[in-house]
Amino acid sequence: MALLQISEPGKSTDPHNRKLTIGIDLGTTNSLVASVISGEAKILEDNNYRLIPSRVLYEQDQILVGNDIPSHAVSIINSVKRLIGKKKDDINANDIALDLADSNDIFIQTPQGFKSPIQVSSDILKKLKKIASDYFGDEIYGAVITVPAYFNEGQRQATKEAAKLAGIDVLRLINEPTAAAYAYGLDTKKEGVFVVYDLGGGTFDISILQFNQGVFEVIATNGNSSLGGDDFDQIIKNYLINKYQLNSQGLEEQAHLNLIAKYIKEKLSSQNTFNETIKFNNQNYQIDISLSEIEESFIPLVDKTIQCVKNALNDANLSIDEIDGVIMVGGSTRMPTIQNHMKQFFNQDLLNDLNPDEVVAIGAARQAFVLSGQAVDDDTLLLDVTPLSLGIETMGDLVERIIPRNSTIPIAKAQEFTTYKDGQTMMKIHVVQGEREKVSENRSLGEFVVKDIPPMPAGAAKIKVTFQVDADSLLTVSAEEQTTGTKTSIEIKPSYSINENEIRKMLEDSFTNAEDDKKFRSLAELIIDANQILELTEKALHNDQQLLSDHEKTTIEKCMNNLKSEITKKNPSKIKQVTDELNNASMSFAQKRMDRSIHSALTGKNINEINK
Ligand code: AMP
Repeated sequence: MALLQISEPGKSTDPHNRKLTIGIDLGTTNSLVASVISGEAKILEDNNYRLIPSRVLYEQDQILVGNDIPSHAVSIINSVKRLIGKKKDDINANDIALDLADSNDIFIQTPQGFKSPIQVSSDILKKLKKIASDYFGDEIYGAVITVPAYFNEGQRQATKEAAKLAGIDVLRLINEPTAAAYAYGLDTKKEGVFVVYDLGGGTFDISILQFNQGVFEVIATNGNSSLGGDDFDQIIKNYLINKYQLNSQGLEEQAHLNLIAKYIKEKLSSQNTFNETIKFNNQNYQIDISLSEIEESFIPLVDKTIQCVKNALNDANLSIDEIDGVIMVGGSTRMPTIQNHMKQFFNQDLLNDLNPDEVVAIGAARQAFVLSGQAVDDDTLLLDVTPLSLGIETMGDLVERIIPRNSTIPIAKAQEFTTYKDGQTMMKIHVVQGEREKVSENRSLGEFVVKDIPPMPAGAAKIKVTFQVDADSLLTVSAEEQTTGTKTSIEIKPSYSINENEIRKMLEDSFTNAEDDKKFRSLAELIIDANQILELTEKALHNDQQLLSDHEKTTIEKCMNNLKSEITKKNPSKIKQVTDELNNASMSFAQKRMDRSIHSALTGKNINEINK
C-alpha cells in the first residue's frame, strides 16, 4: 500500500475559502460589531452609528433594535444583559419580569407575547449580524462574542443560546478583558500579567489576566456594578447647581442637567476649561468651569476604583511592580483624572491608544479572524500554534508534511494523493508528527486504512486527505475517495501534543540532521522514480515485447538489471545515471507502443470522425 503526492501543498480550495467572521461586544448599554477587513479590525457601522444601543422595542408587527427605535418610543427593553442566564430568585424581578406558570424563569411581557432574556438578546444579536452581512453582502461564517469575566456558566450558556437563536455560529465566547488584550496584540508576547481597567457609564470592572503559553487566564476580578461615568456626571451636576444657583426641582430639570453635566465632563477630557453659554429653564447661563477646580471632587470616586484594583491584586497575590501592562477600557477612561491617577498608581504608561469604547469589539474581531484559520501568515495575530509539523507517510519511508509547524490553529489543510499500483484498492494513512524526512524519526500519531478504492490504473485514483486541528488542538484526519465520495477519518486527541522538552529535542534533531535528511529524501525519491520506471518497463515488455528486436530487448533488460543492482547499492548519482540509461534505451520502445495505439485508435474511422 503506497502513496504518492500528486498536487502541490495548499492547492485545495478548502483553506482558501473566504470566511467572514465578526467580533461582537454584546454590552449592557451599547453593543458593537467589528470585523477584520484587509488585515485590520474595523467597527462595522449601522447607518453611520458605531454604537448600537442594546435595546429592543417589540411592536405588534415588528421588532426594532438599537438606533432604529424612535426616541419617543415607550416600553423599550433595556439592559437585558443584566437578566440573561438568571433566574427570578437571582434578581429583584418585581417590575420588569413576569413569572409564568409559577416557574422561576424570567419573562418580559411584550405586545408579541412573553419574551425571555435569551430571546431579547437574540434579537439584538440578529441586528448585529445583519449589520455585518449587509456590509459584506454575504453570509457570516462565525462570531466571537464577548462576555464579562465574572459571567457564570449559566450566563455564558444563555448567551450562546441567544446566538444560536439568532443564527450565529459562535466560534468562541471570550471574556471582555481578554478581548481587550487581543486588541492590543498582547497575545504576541511570550507571557505577562495584565490589568484591564474598565470604567463605563454605570459599571466598573477590573480584571487581572495572566498570559502564558498562548492562553489568557483571568486570575482575579473585582469591580462595582454601580460605579461609572454617571457618578461623575452627578458630581458636576451638583457643582453646577451650587455654583450657578440652578433650580433643579422637577424630574425634567434633573434629566436636562444630567445631560449638561455629561456634556461638560466629556468636553473637559479634551480641554482644560469649559466656557459656553448653556440654556437651562429658558434662561441662558454662561458656564465657566475648569478641570482643576472640579477635579478634587472626583477623587473619592477614583479612590473607589483604586480600592477594587487593590482587592484584585491582593486576590491574585501580586504587587504593582509585577504588572506588565494596563489596558484602559470604557468611555470614562478618557477622563484625564482617571488617566493620570492610574498612570501614577501603576507607575507605568497605560495602553490607551485604541478607542476605549471599541477595544473589546476590535479584540473579538481579531480573535474571530484567528479562530477561522485565516491569520496563518500574520505574526501579530498568532494565538496558539502547532508546535511540530503534521503529515503522513508516503512512499519510500518519507513524510509529506500537510500542516507545517507554527501554523495558527484552528487550521484545515487538504492535499490529494493517488495510488501507486494498478488496481490498488486500499491505502494506508499513517499520521505522523515531527520535522524529520524519515517516517521512523517522527512520532507516529495513528493510522487508518481507506478501503474500497475502485480498481484503477496507478495514479488515476484521487484521495483527498484533510488535516483539521480545531481551537482545542484536536486533530482530525479524514480521507475521501473522490470518485465514490467514501470518507474515512480518525480523531487524535490533544494528547498528541507533547511536552516542551520533547518538542525542543525533536527540533534540535531536525537541525543537526538536516543535511542527512536532505540526502535521505533525494535518495528515496530517486529510488521511487527508478522503481516506477522498472515496473512500467516490465509491464511493457510483458505485453508488447514483439515490437522489439532481440538487440533492443537485451539492451533494455541489461539496463533494468543494472538499475536493480544500483538501487540496492544506494548510490544516488549512479541510480540517476542508470535510470537515465534505461529511459534512453526504452525511448524507441515507448514510441513504437504509442504509434501502435494511435494506429489502432484510428483504424476504420473516417476523417470527420477523427476531427470530432
Ligand atoms: P461606555 O459604557 O463604555 O460606553 O462608557 C460610557 C461612559 O463614558 C459615559 O459615562 C460617558 O459619559 C463616558 N464618556 C464617553 N466619552 C467620554 C469622554 N470623552 N470623556 C469622559 N467621559 C466620557
